[in-house]
Amino acid sequence: MLNKSQADWLHIDIMDGRFVPNISFGFPVMEAIKSYAQKPLDVHLMIVEPELYIERFRAAGAENLTVHIEGCHHLHRVVQQIHATGAKAGVAINPHTSVSLLEDVIADVDLVLLMSVNPGFGGQKFIENTYRKIEAMKNLIISRNSKALIEIDGGVNQENAPLLLDRGADVLVAGSFVFSSPDPLQTIAALKSSGQ
Ligand code: ZN
Repeated sequence: MLNKSQADWLHIDIMDGRFVPNISFGFPVMEAIKSYAQKPLDVHLMIVEPELYIERFRAAGAENLTVHIEGCHHLHRVVQQIHATGAKAGVAINPHTSVSLLEDVIADVDLVLLMSVNPGFGGQKFIENTYRKIEAMKNLIISRNSKALIEIDGGVNQENAPLLLDRGADVLVAGSFVFSSPDPLQTIAALKSSGQ
């Protein structure tokens, strides 16, 4: 169904039960998804010490690898490590983390992911402060001559999608909103059209 959809990427949430209070799945499931997926896998690592697993996630089929600033002691090194595998590198920040903490790494990353809910579970309510963060992020990207895309993850729906795009978001992640709808294909198409 997703292969036939208008979605550009498949967003995969990897949770380790340490960085977030939930466990999702690991390499075997990701490899199984990869064997069917005809779209790039956008992999969001909600795990501590992601540097231990970058190469394995790349080998399992990740096109984009996004790590959390809160889970990395040496973020710049991890970004270089991701690029060395040939993947695109993303940095994610939690709702409480200031955009300004990305100042010195923004020029080196391909995407920034703003969590618009606290990570760990699907189906949570969108945090309104995200709008302000998108604007701050956009200003930082422009001021540092960065090409990073802004990705919004959590509580995205038909109502807030046009507002998010309007503030400067480039990529919207939707899980529960798509999969709990009666016609996911149609819901994806409607979300896609909110950018036009
Ligand atoms: Zn995610």
